Amino acid sequence: MDSTVYDTVCDRLQKIDNRPCMHYIKVKQGQAGLCSLPGRFLCDESLKRFSPRLSHSTALDWRRCRKLFYYRHVQGITVRPHMKSIALKLGTVWDEVVECKTKTGLWSVDQPSVEKLQVPEFDLACVSGMVRACEALEVELHPCEPQVKIEDQIQDGPWIKAILDGRGDGFFVEDKFTFMPNEYFDPFNLTSQVGTYFLLDDSLEYCVIRAVRKPGLQPYKPTKKRKNGETVAEFEERVYQDIISKPKHYLPYFDPATKLYGRRFYPTEFDLASLLWEYAHIGYDISVAQQRGAFYPNYSACRTVYGMCDYRSICDTGGVSDEYFERRDKAEYGGNN
Ligand code: SF4
Repeated sequence: MDSTVYDTVCDRLQKIDNRPCMHYIKVKQGQAGLCSLPGRFLCDESLKRFSPRLSHSTALDWRRCRKLFYYRHVQGITVRPHMKSIALKLGTVWDEVVECKTKTGLWSVDQPSVEKLQVPEFDLACVSGMVRACEALEVELHPCEPQVKIEDQIQDGPWIKAILDGRGDGFFVEDKFTFMPNEYFDPFNLTSQVGTYFLLDDSLEYCVIRAVRKPGLQPYKPTKKRKNGETVAEFEERVYQDIISKPKHYLPYFDPATKLYGRRFYPTEFDLASLLWEYAHIGYDISVAQQRGAFYPNYSACRTVYGMCDYRSICDTGGVSDEYFERRDKAEYGGNN
C-alpha cells in the first residue's frame, strides 16, 4: 500500500527580507504565529515548527478529534455566539452573573449578553430563578478578582494560557452551571482544567469549585384543564421556590453559616507531572500533524452527551456557513486582525 505523506508548502508563502513570509504575524518566541490574510488564522508554515498556544480546552479538542482541532484552532472557525448550545449559553450567562456579584455585590443577569446569545426564555428562567434564590438566601461569593488571565511556557514545550473565573489570596475559583454538578467534584474529571491552572501558577494553594445545579424542572404543557400551559413568569417562580426549598441540592456544599458554596481541591489531588508530560507531547504532536497533513477525523467523537459536534456540517459538506460560523479574533491570540 502506498503511504502518502503530505508535505505541502503554503500556497501563499512569500518570503521577504528577514521575515519568513510577508503575511506572517509573529506572536511569541517559541509559539506558532498567525497569517494576516483574511480567512486564515494560524500560519501553516510556523505551525510545522512550533506548537500553537494551548489551553486546557484546546488540549481537550486535540484529544477529542484532530479534524475538529484543525477547524477550530488552525483555521480559526468558531460557532457564532447565538448558535452555541444551550449548555454553553447558560454557562456564559451564569459566569457573567457571578462576575457581576463579585464586582458589585449584586445578583443580576446581564441583559445585553442574553440578547446577544439569544437565550430561549424558558432556559433563561432557570438562571433568573437561580439569581432570585441566591439573593433571597443571601448567598455570598469568595472575595476575589474576576476573570484573571495567566500564561506561561512549559520547559521545552508549548505556551499555555488560562483564564481563572476568579483569583483570591492563594486560591482560585471555577464556576459551572450544569445539570451534572457531581461530575465536577471528582478530581479525575477536573485534572485537565484545574490541574492546568495549578501547573501555571504554583503559588495557588487550593481552588474552590462552585458547580451550581441547573434546575431540571420543565414548563407545564397545555392540558385539557389548563389550555395555555405555564407562562415564563410562572415557570421562573416555580424554579425559584424549588431552589429556596433545597439550597444544598442546587448549590452543592452550601454552608448556611458562611453563606458560601463550593468544594475545595488541593494540588496534591492531581497528577500534575503527567499533565505536564501530556502538554509537551500534545504541542509536539500538533506540529507533526501539520507537517504530515494528519488532521484526520475521529468519528467516535461526533456525538456527545451535549449533542452533535458543531463541525459536523463542515465535515459533511466542506462548506462553512456564514450564518453559523465566524472567524476567531486574531488580536485575542496576540496578533492584529
Ligand atoms: S463531526 Fe466528528 S469527525 Fe468531524 S470534526 Fe466533529 S468530531 Fe471530528
